[in-house]
Amino acid sequence: MTLFDQSPTSPFHLHTCRVARISDLSPSFRRFTLTGERLDSFADNGFDQRIKLILPLDDHGLSAMPMTDDWYSAWRALPDELRNPIRTYTVRAVRAASRQIDVDVVVHPVDGPASVWAETAVVGDELIVLGPNARHDGFHGGVDFLPPPHAERILLAGDETALPAIAAILERLPPTASGRAIVEVPHADDAACVSTHPGFTVDVLPRNGRAHGELLVPAVRAVAPTLLRTARASSADQGELVDVDVDHDLLWEVPSDDHGGPAQQDAPLYAWLAGEAGVIKTLRRHLVSELGIDRKSVAFMGYWRLGRAEG
Ligand SMILES: Cc1cc2nc3c(=O)[nH]c(=O)nc-3n(C[C@H](O)[C@H](O)[C@H](O)COP(=O)(O)OP(=O)(O)OC[C@H]3O[C@@H](n4cnc5c(N)ncnc54)[C@H](O)[C@@H]3O)c2cc1C
Repeated sequence: MTLFDQSPTSPFHLHTCRVARISDLSPSFRRFTLTGERLDSFADNGFDQRIKLILPLDDHGLSAMPMTDDWYSAWRALPDELRNPIRTYTVRAVRAASRQIDVDVVVHPVDGPASVWAETAVVGDELIVLGPNARHDGFHGGVDFLPPPHAERILLAGDETALPAIAAILERLPPTASGRAIVEVPHADDAACVSTHPGFTVDVLPRNGRAHGELLVPAVRAVAPTLLRTARASSADQGELVDVDVDHDLLWEVPSDDHGGPAQQDAPLYAWLAGEAGVIKTLRRHLVSELGIDRKSVAFMGYWRLGRAEG
C-alpha cells in the first residue's frame, strides 16, 4: 500500500522513510535524519510536535503495516507477530523542501524496540513515521505547548526525553518570551543538545548515575516560586487534584480551549513539564497543590514510565 491510500488532507500521514544520516550528538543522544518521498508535505509546527515512529520487525520488516487513514484499527487487529512496534517521539526539525526530518533519540540502557533500533539502525534502513500533514486545513493535534499569549513567565522542565521538545520550544518562542528551562540529563556533555533563548536561563543538570528526578525535583521546587511574580497562590478553584496511578494510567493533562488553543489568555506563570511519569507526578503535585498555580497554566506529560514499556 502507498501514501495514496490516505486522504490528501487528513491531519496526519504515514510516511515511509529511510535513515539518511546518523549523528551522535552527545553521550545520550543520537540524531536520525530521515528522508521520504512525501516529507515535503510534513507540517513544520515546531514546539513539542509529537510524532510516531513505526519500527520494522526482525522477521517481517514493515510489510504488514496498513498504510491507510484507518491504519490504527487495522494495526490493532494484526496478529502479535505482524504488529510493528510504535513509539512516540518529538520531531526536532523539519526541512520539507529537502524532504527531511530530524528525530533526536535517547539511547537508553534498557532494551525496548526503539532503543534497540536506535543502537542498531544503519543508513538506508526503513521505518514509517506518522506526522502532521501540511495539506490539512486545520488543527493537527500533537502540540501540547500551549502557553497563554500573555503569560508573564514560562517554566520548561523535564528529563532527557523532553530535551528535544524543550530545545525546539526555545527555538520557536519569540524573543520577548522569558522564563527558565531546567533539564535533567544523564551526562554533562548532553548539554550540547539544548538550545538557548535570550529571555531564558537554561539549567542543565547532569544526573551522573543518580536516580531520575533526584536533581530535577529540587531544582523546580527552588525555581518555581521565584518565577511567580504576582500572587503566590491562584484564586482559581483548583478542584481536588486526583492522583494518577502512573503504573496503570497515562499521566497527561494539557489545558486547552475547545479549539485546541491555549486555555487562558494570560497567567503569571505557564509551566510545561515532561519526562518520567513518577517524577512529573511529583512536580505536578508541588506546583498545583503546594504552590497553588492554576491548573489551567500547567501542562504535564508522563513521556515514559520507569520499568514499563510504552503502550
Ligand atoms: C510526546 C512524547 C515525545 C517524546 N519525545 C522523545 C524524544 O524526542 N526523544 C526520546 O528519546 N524520547 C522521547 N519520548 C520518550 C520515548 O517515547 C520513550 O522513552 C519510549 O518508551 C522509548 O521506547 P523504547 O522502545 O526504547 O522503550 P519501551 O519499550 O517503551 O520500554 C522498555 C523499557 O525501557 C525503559 N525506558 C523507556 N525510555 C527510557 C529512557 N529514556 N531512559 C531509561 N529507560 C527507559 C522503560 O521504562 C521500560 O522498562 C517521548 C515520549 C512522548 C510521549
